[in-house]
Amino acid sequence: MNEAEIEQRKIALSKCGGVCEVCGKQLTNSTWQGAHRIANTKPNRAKWGDFVIDHPENIAIVCSLKCNHVCNIGYNPGECLRLIKKIVEKELQKFPEEA
Ligand SMILES: [Zn+2]
Repeated sequence: MNEAEIEQRKIALSKCGGVCEVCGKQLTNSTWQGAHRIANTKPNRAKWGDFVIDHPENIAIVCSLKCNHVCNIGYNPGECLRLIKKIVEKELQKFPEEA
């Protein structure tokens, strides 16, 4: 891990309040992992695009592989679309509509 990655991990950890998104367990800098909600696979990248797969909203902060698996929504089209709606709405805030 390089300096930038360590810094990224710190930011991600502070964003989730330092606890596992699934089970609420306290996390430390060394124990947590990022879980892709829509899995980071070639077919998913082809279907949804890098923008969605790499978006922070697509990454859940969890404590273990077990909690990691719970976050996977790739098999559920409705959940995928809801996540993408959330990502689009979040990104749209950067571009306010003219009054
Ligand atoms: Zn957990």
